[in-house]
Amino acid sequence: MYEKLEECPSCRYPKLVNQLILQDSLISGESFALVGCANCHLRFLNPRPTDITRFLAPQLIDRLPSGKRMSLITRLLTRKIVKQQLSLVHHYNPQKLLNIASGVNSFRRLLTKSRDVIQVQPITSEISLPGIPKSLKFEMITCWEGFGHAKELKDSIKQLRKKLVKDGKLLIHLANPTSPVADHFGQAWAAYDAPRSMYFASPSSAEMLFTKTKFNIVERIPCPAYNLLYVLVSTFQSQGSIDILQALRLSRKTNNQSRDTDNYCSYIYVLEK
Ligand SMILES: [Zn+2]
Repeated sequence: MYEKLEECPSCRYPKLVNQLILQDSLISGESFALVGCANCHLRFLNPRPTDITRFLAPQLIDRLPSGKRMSLITRLLTRKIVKQQLSLVHHYNPQKLLNIASGVNSFRRLLTKSRDVIQVQPITSEISLPGIPKSLKFEMITCWEGFGHAKELKDSIKQLRKKLVKDGKLLIHLANPTSPVADHFGQAWAAYDAPRSMYFASPSSAEMLFTKTKFNIVERIPCPAYNLLYVLVSTFQSQGSIDILQALRLSRKTNNQSRDTDNYCSYIYVLEK
């Protein structure tokens, strides 16, 4: 079953512009139309499956070929990504933390034992918080991967907002569809991952979305370590093999372009209730 949206799920503007056709090369082979809102420029699948459970697939990092050099690269990338996530948690120092659908499981393992951490995963078509009492609230909620799976975009953010204490922080990682690496790969950009991911927000469309859901944006932090990951996965998915030297060169080139234009491949948004 599929459903079609008549307006932007963020700003409700009715004019939607066709962007790309995305193919699910991992599970179904089906094609999906990606549209963009003419006002806030949020991109989203339209129409979209009513339930994405049957399309679920491994995380980005599991979609690479095996081999010594590749596993060394993915280990280094994972370490960089998790280090950045952990340093943010330590900086804000919450005692009660809810982690939603962490793509990199070592994040949960490495959190200090002194913190009270609850983890919920995976996100399917909805962000559901099974087994968490209504009255339980958190100082921080982290959502590193998979936020784009949440079908009801604003409702999901509002639901998370309700689970935060006053001044609590929501940390969301979002890939940037207007970044140089996304432009380079077009419909083959790994982060599109249709139909598992349904929404893609540039920094300006993310800011509009979070403002509309009553969050203050405290920080927007670039995550350049994802750039090489996107290059590797996008290349492997579209070509079936990877020339590692070429991938490193392309990643360096697109990362430099990102730095020069302040338009990184992905960001962590630190939002405050
Ligand atoms: Zn919009």
